[in-house]
Amino acid sequence: MIKAVLPGSFDPPTNGHINIIERAAAIFDTVDVVISVNTNKKYLFSAEERFEMLDELTKVYHNVSVHLWNKLIVDYAKNVGATVLVRGVRAFTDFGYEFELSMLNKDLDPDIETIFLPTDPKYFVLRSSAIKELTILNSDISKMVPSLVEVALRDKLLGS
Ligand code: ADP
Repeated sequence: MIKAVLPGSFDPPTNGHINIIERAAAIFDTVDVVISVNTNKKYLFSAEERFEMLDELTKVYHNVSVHLWNKLIVDYAKNVGATVLVRGVRAFTDFGYEFELSMLNKDLDPDIETIFLPTDPKYFVLRSSAIKELTILNSDISKMVPSLVEVALRDKLLGS
């Protein structure tokens, strides 16, 4: 039985995130999607809003659950008995940062392994930050995010 943790900001969730969640759910017995709550970071959506969106979007996967956490991710993993951290990697430029993060987490807890899943080529340009800008510019984001996220983004950024 291998429990995995998939941490991230998910501000907001994109089709790239959902793809990584779905693929992790097909590999591991259970996947805890853990939304980071970092008081030093500015998010567009509150932790509760991000939780509600991800909870709705992942209810089709029977072995996926969504959680909020404001401490070290390795501590979350240890608390729930998870042994794997999953991170999605888009471009090569993501890799340097992700590699360093995995070294840090390995140092914090050598029993927990980080596994990288390369993005599906369909989603490699998807970034939450770019999607927010595209929303403000009134671009079509319907292929980038689930429709409930599209509605929430328009509501938050354009007031409609
Ligand atoms: P963080 O702020 O921790 O990087 P994100 O919400 O940006 O959180 O990302 C959460 C996880 O999803 C990370 O592993 C990230 O690399 C991955 N991810 C984000 N967008 C994509 C995408 N389009 N394809 C594959 N993985 C992605």
